[in-house]
Amino acid sequence: MGVNKEELFDKVVNLSKRRGFVFQSAEIYGGFRSTYDYGPVGVLLLRNVKEQWWRSMVQFRQDVVGIDAAILSPPSIWEASGHLTNFTDPLVDCRECGSRFRQDKLEDLNSCPTCDSKSSFTEARQFNLMFKTNAGPVIDSAAEVYLRPETAQGMFTNFTNVLNTSRKKPPFGIAQIGKSFRNEITPGNFVFRTREFEQMEMEYFVPPADSDKWFEYWCKERMDWYLNLGMKADSLRLRIHDPDELSHYARATSDIEFSFPWGWDELEGIANRTDFDLNQHAQASGNKLEYNDSGTGERYVPHVIEPAAGATRTAMAFLMDAYEEEEVNGEVRNVLKLDHRLSPYKVAVLPLSKKDELIEPSKEVLDLVQPHWMCDYDQTQAIGRRYRRQDEIGTPYCVTIDFETLEDKAVTVRERDSMNQDRVPINELVEYLSSHLAP
Ligand code: ATP
Repeated sequence: MGVNKEELFDKVVNLSKRRGFVFQSAEIYGGFRSTYDYGPVGVLLLRNVKEQWWRSMVQFRQDVVGIDAAILSPPSIWEASGHLTNFTDPLVDCRECGSRFRQDKLEDLNSCPTCDSKSSFTEARQFNLMFKTNAGPVIDSAAEVYLRPETAQGMFTNFTNVLNTSRKKPPFGIAQIGKSFRNEITPGNFVFRTREFEQMEMEYFVPPADSDKWFEYWCKERMDWYLNLGMKADSLRLRIHDPDELSHYARATSDIEFSFPWGWDELEGIANRTDFDLNQHAQASGNKLEYNDSGTGERYVPHVIEPAAGATRTAMAFLMDAYEEEEVNGEVRNVLKLDHRLSPYKVAVLPLSKKDELIEPSKEVLDLVQPHWMCDYDQTQAIGRRYRRQDEIGTPYCVTIDFETLEDKAVTVRERDSMNQDRVPINELVEYLSSHLAP
């Protein structure tokens, strides 16, 4: 049963609230606009997205190392990076109703989407998206600091530290996952655009002559990451930026876009940033930021390929892509067909009834399985309803302990997508699940 694109958005937002993926932040105080909290299953999905990124970008590669840099940062970094002057969006107000918009996202520059007034917009003003705060007890300009609007600058400012301590040489990369903050003019579409979000970014430093080759390599590598994690091929596309769209420092940029209910929109940008960032920070800090090969005597400023993805935005895209409705025995079953590696819980342990004699063996099964995988345990309600709940949060395997278990020391394992059931001896359960669940 296909899910209508217009309805998909509301269905996923509802599911998120109902099942504990995402809650409106500060909800008991009426909600804090456009900020969200990740609930018990949402935090697991988000962690799994980040973990899969880290595995493919760091764990499986000897040419990439990770860091975790500070969020608070001095103005000098943002002056050198160009963010203080250029990290702006054009802001317009409607003179009639007072609504504010990002001019570059307006469909019709002559018509206000809120009140329909014509030619009511003010001239565009450049609005800087960085959050500013004060460090220490004295509030003056010398104490001004910024919350980072991207994680990338931490990789550039630590270039020499990482080079000296990791014994890497170009081509090599520095990866980071963490929170970033942007005072977005028009946050919205649920967690798609928020003022506080998480990014997964990597700066790949290469010999200048090889940058085109590595740019192509990373575009393919990153597309494959989404596909390999089960995102449908027709939900994804790579959009190459036209030359007039490119930032002044970028030699090439491509976006990986997802087909959201409102249309194609960005999940990740891959850019060839040349030597812009290292040169800017070298000039501003007075420190050389270059690679010096002691063997050949060669010395150069590497060029940088940057795949920059949003973790929170990507988690939402995986949710939307995996959501399906199926008719089973005349009833609609909602199921999240998430790749096992992204599923919040891999296994749910379910005693068939609340009777005492089933609880103890169920707890023993849980003890056996939970050192290996994130497990849920649920002994309330009828078994059918518990299966539906697990389907809706994407749990690939339900393990049911019934009265026969007491006799045959075996359990029923139900697979989410096929709903097929296997009877598996308890002492073979871990092996059975291991053979079906990829790490
Ligand atoms: P946009 O044009 O949508 O504002 P951007 O091109 O400025 O985004 P980048 O600076 O390239 O975005 O950031 C890299 C990634 O970080 C984006 O592809 C997106 O997944 C994520 N991201 C950026 N801004 C936000 C936000 N406000 N909320 C959630 N995720 C974001």
